[in-house]
Amino acid sequence: MSAHPSIAEFQIAGDCLAVGGVPLESLAARVGGTPFFAYDRRLITSRVGYLRSVLPSGVNLSYAVKANPMAAVVQHLSGLVDSFDVASAFEMKTALDTPVAPSHVSFAGPGKTTVELTQAVAAGVTIEMESANEARRVVEVGNRLGIRPRVAVRVNPDYQVKGSGMRMGGGPQQFGTDAEEVPALLNELAATDLDFQGFHVFAGSQNLHADILCEALAKNVALLMKLAGDSPCPIRYLNLGGGFGIPYFDKDAPLDISPVGKALGDLMEHVIRPMLPEARVVIELGRYLVGESGVYVTRVVDRKVSRGRTYLVVDGGLHHQLAASGNFGQVIRRNYPIVVGNRMRSTDLESVTVVGCLCTPLDLLGDNVMLPRADVGDLVVIFQAGAYGLTASPTAFLGHPAPVEVLV
Ligand SMILES: *Cc1c(COP(=O)(O)O)cnc(C)c1O
Repeated sequence: MSAHPSIAEFQIAGDCLAVGGVPLESLAARVGGTPFFAYDRRLITSRVGYLRSVLPSGVNLSYAVKANPMAAVVQHLSGLVDSFDVASAFEMKTALDTPVAPSHVSFAGPGKTTVELTQAVAAGVTIEMESANEARRVVEVGNRLGIRPRVAVRVNPDYQVKGSGMRMGGGPQQFGTDAEEVPALLNELAATDLDFQGFHVFAGSQNLHADILCEALAKNVALLMKLAGDSPCPIRYLNLGGGFGIPYFDKDAPLDISPVGKALGDLMEHVIRPMLPEARVVIELGRYLVGESGVYVTRVVDRKVSRGRTYLVVDGGLHHQLAASGNFGQVIRRNYPIVVGNRMRSTDLESVTVVGCLCTPLDLLGDNVMLPRADVGDLVVIFQAGAYGLTASPTAFLGHPAPVEVLV
């Protein structure tokens, strides 16, 4: 079994992996069959607790809902984090259905339609404006509704953050206003009736390098301090992004966030607090909070040997868990951690290839993996399925039913 510490945190009952203390065989019976996603409430809670213990006090923690928008997960997190980041009107609704105040919901993302902007202004959430054009439309919407829109400017930095699995800042981008254009935009906004709160910068995702994250934080803070000098009013909101990654593959060492917490503490004490005493400082995370809390549970439908290679064919696949097949933005396909969920203590190992039930060679879930000998009816479980799983997958492809999701 893989050595990822978070995976070791799942309990094992007898020979069976358990989520939220419930063995997966019982859970499969409870939800009515396989495949399904199960998220462990306790693991989410302990992850947030750990993060809080490392981040300096006074820093707000925001959950990026797109990582896992299941309503029950968002509800659970509403009692643990300070705010939500949403990227669509539907995510905004999910966030507003929780007790978190609208002012503590931020709405980012390119291509917000005027209907979405109207919903956001009416709700009173913080709109993270991605362009000058979007800013002008927000002004129009505010005038039409007679409501002063609460806004922040998303900044596209003039540097890149290396080591990110997905880059969303630096160079030309659809995200944010280029740093060098921000002073002119602020100048334009000063004459409008917008409730300008501050800045947002989010430069990339899935970063496992503490040193790079520390450097990115320092650069982000330096950039935003410079831009704050051009602000027509005091800065009350400073969203420094996040990008904390989780280990997906054998060679990935889990991110050690303690240096990041310390670097942020130093920046808070020596730079941010002295210069911007009123600012609500936010770190915004998705997968780091939920990704390791979830598993995707499938059942073996067929076992076959083809020219010497053993295949386990399961009842799930890339239509539910695209990322595990290596087709969600990965350059090189690698295996996600995978186990036989009802044979956790078996030592009778063999090399197998696990494929899904879709009629495409892309539907590969485990390529030449060492697993306990499994047969039809056994459970094959894929870890790191708590973020960018179901909602990041092409569920309509081949027309199989959608899987159940449970928070246990
Ligand atoms: C997607 C996204 C996040 C979350 O990214 P993770 O890698 O899941 O932490 C945070 N902020 C913004 C603006 C995003 O688009």
